[in-house]
Amino acid sequence: MNSLFDNAIQSIQLGVDDYQSHDPRRPISAVRNFYAGVLLLAKEVLVRAAPNADPKDVLSARYKPVPDGAGGVELRPTNNTVDFTNLPERFKDFGLTIAQGPLTELNRIRTDIEHYYTDKSREHVREAIAKAFPVVSELFRQLHESPSKLLGKTWATMLDVRSVYEEELAACKGTFQKINWKSELLGKVTLLCPECGSHLVEQTHPDNTDHQCIDVKCRLCGAETDAERIVEVALEKYFEHETYFATRDGDTSPLHDCPECSVTAYITSSEHSGCLWCGETLGECARCSDELTPDNVSWDNSQLCSYCDHMTSKDD
Ligand SMILES: [Zn+2]
Ligand SMILES: [Zn+2]
Ligand SMILES: [Zn+2]
Repeated sequence: MNSLFDNAIQSIQLGVDDYQSHDPRRPISAVRNFYAGVLLLAKEVLVRAAPNADPKDVLSARYKPVPDGAGGVELRPTNNTVDFTNLPERFKDFGLTIAQGPLTELNRIRTDIEHYYTDKSREHVREAIAKAFPVVSELFRQLHESPSKLLGKTWATMLDVRSVYEEELAACKGTFQKINWKSELLGKVTLLCPECGSHLVEQTHPDNTDHQCIDVKCRLCGAETDAERIVEVALEKYFEHETYFATRDGDTSPLHDCPECSVTAYITSSEHSGCLWCGETLGECARCSDELTPDNVSWDNSQLCSYCDHMTSKDD
């Protein structure tokens, strides 16, 4: 075994040991170690994919051009190595795959736990371990190594953590079973706690069927949230990537404030067009036939785009 792989195994083991300890200071250490271990494991996958290359060349996040003394330049790796933000891209360049969602989630939990340490932090570490479990499992598969052999009882603990978490998640999801979401999209978005980001949120009154009357409580931090907010936060998360790229490229983002109900639930995407909260759907502008969106509709007259409304009011 080489040291990178050794370190990966040790970090994951340390992280899970920290998690199991009931010392209140250990959750931060747990999530740091676990995070580091998963990152090292991913790096090992990359290094093994190019066995003849210098690992520094494989893992550097940036390269700087340096004159090669013969009129050209050579690219030298800097000391910054890939992290969770650029790992998915490096995997892709190597023809490998890694799930981005759980990595982003683990990174978020790591940042949150360092900033807002609470007595519920142990539960958040459990969620982090449970979420990262499929990634760790997949990385071991890509390495053709046995996690149960190498991680020993740590692997057994991770399996337990995962199954306890899955059970709780299923129980939480069950409380929303009777909701008539009125749209396929709203039925499939992931609900999460606006305060702590946990997916372990449950409906306070599981017999409720109306999506506008949902009251939600977080099993981890205890925060109570009303229906509007839970829908807005879930949609914001669901469209996070699309919104980011739309903003970056100067395109229209898919999520808008609804001109009818003001809830940030009006969608203009290939998947859906209209408000998921109140059902409002803007049609075409009655004057120029352009498709109406919350961005171009006249807020005084929802039959017209703001340009046509302006033009007709000038005619009067
Ligand atoms: Zn919460
Ligand atoms: Zn609406
Ligand atoms: Zn118009």
